[in-house]
Amino acid sequence: MTATVPTTAALQTARVAVLGYGSQGRAHALNLKDSGLDVVVGVRRNGPSWEKARADGLKVAEPAEAVKEADLVAVLTPDMVQPALYRDAIEQNLKPNAALLFAHGFNVHFGQIAPRKDIDVILVAPKGPGALVRREYEKGHGVPCIYAVHQDASGKARDKVLAYAAGIGGARAMLIETNFGEETETDLFGEQAVLCGGATELVLAGFETLVEAGYQPEIAYYEVLHELKLIVDLLHEGGLAKMHQYVSETAQYGDLTRGPRVVDAGTKARMKEILDEIRDGRFAKEWVGEYQAGNGNYRSLKQKDLAHPIEQVGASLRSRMPWLNPATPAVTTVPAP
Ligand code: NDP
Ligand code: MG
Ligand code: MG
Repeated sequence: MTATVPTTAALQTARVAVLGYGSQGRAHALNLKDSGLDVVVGVRRNGPSWEKARADGLKVAEPAEAVKEADLVAVLTPDMVQPALYRDAIEQNLKPNAALLFAHGFNVHFGQIAPRKDIDVILVAPKGPGALVRREYEKGHGVPCIYAVHQDASGKARDKVLAYAAGIGGARAMLIETNFGEETETDLFGEQAVLCGGATELVLAGFETLVEAGYQPEIAYYEVLHELKLIVDLLHEGGLAKMHQYVSETAQYGDLTRGPRVVDAGTKARMKEILDEIRDGRFAKEWVGEYQAGNGNYRSLKQKDLAHPIEQVGASLRSRMPWLNPATPAVTTVPAP
């Protein structure tokens, strides 16, 4: 954690270009502007973001044009489109000593982007989705961020990264210093082993176990998916202690004696294999290769996942629980590269 609270001073006279106006891009651009910085959004003229950013009152330009005038360029498009964006719009247009900022270190860490040597390369990754980054800022708070300096050509990279983190509201909460390797590897591991990969497989295996044993799918859905949120919220708010405080003694005893049989030393050994594949670049090579080959395998795996019986049961049950906002459309497509 940083000792003094950073301010936006180091970017006060700078032009900041935010490339991409999606989850993170919109939140960063609006927060930076409201923090008094000079912001331009760089997006494709024919894409939906163009009008959206203009309607929000921001200056908008094509990415290459936005980069030419900028002292700091934040690359906030999806990770897989960043290498082409760097090659086509950034590399030849960025001023010497300007800063290139990422919210995830994937492309730099795994060599998909080799930044010019005469620029600063920095990272600010908020620990929350863009909507939360914006909402907390508007309330006068901020979402904690991790930050890193990968390359310091100007001698001022650290001042700039802290000023950017302050501008999006992160310094109001907490800033933790990291490096591109730690941010990238831990982010990938978390989503693969625990948050997305681990949690969904745990839910599906539990659902299948109950349904195969003859229990009703609707009841199984409530027990292994719906109620997961209650437990995750308790963990999120107060760790293991708060969860123990709010569940029954029977649940606690079952957790302590049966939990370690479900997730055991074999699971941890496989987690270590997954971490090894991330660290030595095998995962990055596979994913970049899949993307470049047209996402065929990714698409078919996703279709298979969404065809699981738990999805039909879930859709029908959620439609009877309007507080869950069931009207939110499900994302079922994989964008073409
Ligand atoms: P999004 O998927 O929300 O980005 C969408 C934006 O990218 C749109 O403005 C879109 O413009 C633009 N875009 C998409 N494809 C292209 C293309 N081919 N060329 C130019 N622009 C394109 O991104 P996220 O906000 O989810 O992620 C941005 C970065 O932040 C990533 O590095 C991610 O890892 C990181 N990150 C994301 C978090 C999150 O909560 N989502 C959390 C922390 C980090 P158009 O309207 O023209 O299609
Ligand atoms: Mg991630
Ligand atoms: Mg347990």
